[in-house]
Amino acid sequence: MNIVLLGGPGAGKGTLAANLLKHYKMQHFSTGDLLRAAVASGTEQGLAAKKFMDAGDLVPDEVIVGIMKERLSALDADSQGVILDGFPRTTAQAEALDSMLAELGQKVDLALLLDCPDQVVVDRICNRRTCGDCGFIGNLNWIPKEEWDSYVCPECGGEMTQRADDTEETVRNRLDVYKKQTAPLIDYYKNAEVLKDIDAAKDAETSLNLAREILGDFL
Ligand code: AMP
Repeated sequence: MNIVLLGGPGAGKGTLAANLLKHYKMQHFSTGDLLRAAVASGTEQGLAAKKFMDAGDLVPDEVIVGIMKERLSALDADSQGVILDGFPRTTAQAEALDSMLAELGQKVDLALLLDCPDQVVVDRICNRRTCGDCGFIGNLNWIPKEEWDSYVCPECGGEMTQRADDTEETVRNRLDVYKKQTAPLIDYYKNAEVLKDIDAAKDAETSLNLAREILGDFL
């Protein structure tokens, strides 16, 4: 069972993936997380990707496809499949993914579109905070204002920080990039008859429950 999570920035792909992993034995690959790790460790790949990420633009397809090829060639034999979060983001990436999976005798079984209005996304992203230790994704909207300065990770107590690209200006560009370059994948997966969508404008638990209803038909 291979799932692609589709949806604009802040739709909740990362949070949904983390929550699905509590229920299914699947492998999760987030190209955004992999790129941020490469930036943090100062690799050549990370340095090359950083300028695109800071501007909210897409990192070139060949870099991303190379990263995913490496991951997909070393899958755990005992997992129930993969959850791809933030990949593919262009038609060229979707075609490359189809070929990589075909080589393994597999395919994309479900493309789950997380639907969320722009205004909800902008508010969510500007208040998003991520744990530097365990990667937990939190939000200032979930806690009282008096606790904003002392926000620590509810899972591990680590420091909650703001992603470099989570500013309003960058978010607006990421929304534009999504509409121009990634939204065409909605039709791509509709044509492949694997597209389902969920209303992702509410809370994380609602998104999880809606996704689990759909996954129940597959797993
Ligand atoms: P994300 O964490 O998915 O929001 O990704 C953060 C940033 O990483 C994006 O704004 C892009 O600059 C870059 N990125 C992540 N995944 C991809 C991808 N599949 N293709 C191109 N760039 C990507």
